[in-house]
Parts: sequence; C-alpha cells; structure tokens
Amino acid sequence: MTDTIFGKIASGQAQADIVYEDDRALAFRDLNPQAPTHLLVIPRKPLATLSEADSDDQALLGHLLLVANRVASEAGLENYRVVVNNGAGAGQTVFHLHLHVLGGRNFSWPPG
Ligand code: 5GP
Repeated sequence: MTDTIFGKIASGQAQADIVYEDDRALAFRDLNPQAPTHLLVIPRKPLATLSEADSDDQALLGHLLLVANRVASEAGLENYRVVVNNGAGAGQTVFHLHLHVLGGRNFSWPPG
C-alpha cells in the first residue's frame, strides 16, 4: 500500500495533534471535525481498510477499540460514537484504517 497522510503521521513525517500513542496505535484530532470532539484512532500497521484485516489482526483490532474508549474517556465523553468507513462507497477517503471517535453532541440514527 502506498503511504497515506495517516502513515506519515504515524511515522512522524507529518504533523497532527496527537492525544495518545503507543507501540501499536495512535490517536489524534481530526482536521475537519464533525463534532465538538472528533478523534481518529489508527494502527501503526498500514492496513488500508478494515476488510484487509484478518485473524492475525484480532488483538490489534481489539486494542484499537480500547484506545478509542480510553481517548473518549480522557476527553470527558460518556456518550460517543465510533465509526469505521470501509471503502469509498461507505465514505472512506484515507486508505489507512481509522476509527472515528465522535462526541460532544447528539447523534441521529440511522447515519447518513
Ligand atoms: P474517512 O472519510 O476516510 O473515513 O475519514 C478521513 C478523515 O480524516 C476525515 O474526517 C478527514 O477530516 C480527516 N483527515 C484528512 N486528512 C487529514 C490530515 O491531514 N490530518 C488530520 N488530522 N485529519 C485528516
């Protein structure tokens, strides 16, 4: 996979407002927030999409959800939404797996 902006953020070649990082994942503020709190959680491993993940990634995927919960909690969010857009037709624009963590307002269902 060719490096994306998120790959560059993970390797330190591009800037982001990072709120959490460890050896497997990092979380940073979305450049174009869709809610008062809008964080992105990414693996350091360059998976393009959720579809690309397989059973070898089971622990990593669980870790990403735990990081999402951690950064939401640290942001003071009791209620929040986690979204993964998988593929262009679902709204994915950056092809490095990421979890959106959105909070600070009410959300409707179904999503648009
Ligand atoms: P997607 O549409 O792929 O699910 O989400 C990509 C998200 O990345 C969008 O919410 C967009 O605002 C955000 N984004 C795109 N480029 C950058 C960037 O360079 N830095 C940061 N922090 N967010 C970005």
